[in-house]
Amino acid sequence: MAQGKPGPRAVVVGGGVAGLTAAAALSEAGWRVVVLEKEDDVGGRCRTVRAGGYLFDTGAQHFHDSYDDTLNAAIRAGLGESFRIPQEPKGIFHDGRLSTFVPRGLNPSTIFPWGAVGLTGLADVGAVAPALLTHYRSYNIRFPHWWSQGDRVTAARFLSRRSTARYRRNIADPAALYAMGAGIDTISAAAFMVSLRYTFGDRTGGFTGGMGSLSEALARKAKVITGMVALEVVREGKNATGVRAMPAVGGRARTYQADVVICALPATALPAVAGRLGRSAQDIVARVRYAPAIVVNFASAEENAAPGGPVIVARGEEIGAAWVCKNTSKAAEYAPGGGTVATVVFSGEEVPVIIDEPDDVIVKAASSACSSIFGTAFGKARQVRVDRHPEAFPVVSPGHAARVRTLFTSGSGVGNLLLAGDWTTSPTVEGAVSSGLAAAGRALAQRAG
Ligand SMILES: Cc1cc2nc3c(=O)[nH]c(=O)nc-3n(C[C@H](O)[C@H](O)[C@H](O)COP(=O)(O)OP(=O)(O)OC[C@H]3O[C@@H](n4cnc5c(N)ncnc54)[C@H](O)[C@@H]3O)c2cc1C
Repeated sequence: MAQGKPGPRAVVVGGGVAGLTAAAALSEAGWRVVVLEKEDDVGGRCRTVRAGGYLFDTGAQHFHDSYDDTLNAAIRAGLGESFRIPQEPKGIFHDGRLSTFVPRGLNPSTIFPWGAVGLTGLADVGAVAPALLTHYRSYNIRFPHWWSQGDRVTAARFLSRRSTARYRRNIADPAALYAMGAGIDTISAAAFMVSLRYTFGDRTGGFTGGMGSLSEALARKAKVITGMVALEVVREGKNATGVRAMPAVGGRARTYQADVVICALPATALPAVAGRLGRSAQDIVARVRYAPAIVVNFASAEENAAPGGPVIVARGEEIGAAWVCKNTSKAAEYAPGGGTVATVVFSGEEVPVIIDEPDDVIVKAASSACSSIFGTAFGKARQVRVDRHPEAFPVVSPGHAARVRTLFTSGSGVGNLLLAGDWTTSPTVEGAVSSGLAAAGRALAQRAG
C-alpha cells in the first residue's frame, strides 16, 4: 500500500474464526478493517474462557493434523507451533484402556486398528491396507475429495471398501455420517475423532486445548468491536455500502461504511442481516440445518487418577473416548498445580432432549460420563461451566458441495458482499479458517480487478 494512501475499507460481520481470519488477512494486506461481534468476546464457537485460574474450552477443542490453514493462521498470528500440542503426550481412552499414540512404525500393535476390526477382520487387512494408503494422500478433513466426486455415494463406497461389519459399525459409519454432514446429530465428535485415529493412525493427532487462543490472536490483527449487533447490510443498487449496527446493551444504531462487506455468520443468522441474496446463495442458506451440542467443563484441584491434565471426554454410542495431554505445557496452563480440567461434549441424540434441562441435570449426566470412562465423577469440582450450543454443527443436505461450488462461482448475488463461515466449507475450525481466507482472497481479487 502506498504511503499516505488509505487502504480500502472492509466491514466483517461476525467475530468467529471465519470472520477473524478474513479480517486478519485483509488487515495484513493494508485494508482498514472493522469486525462487528455481537457478544462481549470474540471466538463464537471457538472460544476459551479463563476462570479461577483454569482454562475452559467452550466449543471446539480438537486440532487435526490436516488443519493446514489453521496452523498457518496460528503461526502468522504469532501463536507458533505451540498452538498445537505435540503428538506424544496424548491418547484415547476407550473401553477402559488408554491407548497412547506412539509412532506406528515402532509399535506393530498400532499399525492396524485391531481392536476395531476384530478377529474376523484380520483376513481383510491385506485388502484394507492398500486402499488406505491409496486414499490417504487425497484424504483431508475437509473431504474435498469426496465432495468433488459426488458426496454421499463416493464417501460410502470409500469407507465400505475397508470394512468388516464391526469396523463399519464402530468406526466407518460414524465417520461417513459425519463426513456427509447427514447424520452428525447421531454421532459424537469423539466417535469421529476415534474413527480418524483408527483409520489414519498418527497423522490424525494434533490434539490441542485452548483453541480459543487462535480467535484471540487473530482478533489482535484487526479492529474488533464487541457487543455490537449487526442489523443490516446497507445497499445502494447492487452494491453493499456498509453495515448498520447497534450496541447490544442499547444505544444508537450507526452505519460502518465499507468498500467490501464480509458476512461470516451462521447460515441461520445470515438472512436477517444480509437481506436478499442471489438465487444460489439463497438456496444453500435455506438448506443448512444445525445440530446442537452441550459442553460441560469441570475443574478439579486433584490430579485425575486416570490421565491427569486437561482431558476431553465425549460420549457417543458405544465409544467413550478421551483425549489427554498429561505432562504438557497445556496441562499446567489448563489446571495449575497438577489439577484436572475435564471437558465433556454431548453431541449425540440425547442433546435435543436435555439441552433445555437445568444445569444440575446436565452436570449430573456429564459427571456420570466422566465416571464411566475415568472412574472419577468430578462430584467435588471446584468450578463447573455449562455451555449450550443450540446451533453447534451445520448439517448439510446432500448436494451441499455442489451448491457451495456454485456459490463460489456466482457469489452472493450482491457484488461486494462476500460470505464466509463453516457452513460454506465444512463444520470445523479448519473449514471456518479456510472460508475466511477464501473471502479475503475474493475481496483482494475484486479490488485488483
Ligand atoms: C461444542 C462444539 C465442539 C466443536 N468441536 C470442534 C473440534 O473439536 N474441532 C473443530 O475443528 N471444530 C469443532 N467445532 C466446530 C467449530 O467450532 C466451528 O465450525 C467454527 O468455530 C465455526 O466458526 P465460524 O466463524 O464459521 O462461526 P461462529 O463461531 O458461529 O462465528 C459467528 C459469529 O458471529 C456472531 N454473530 C452472530 N450474529 C451476529 C450479528 N447480528 N452481529 C454481529 N455478530 C454476530 C456470533 O456471535 C459469532 O461469534 C465444534 C463446535 C462446537 C459447538
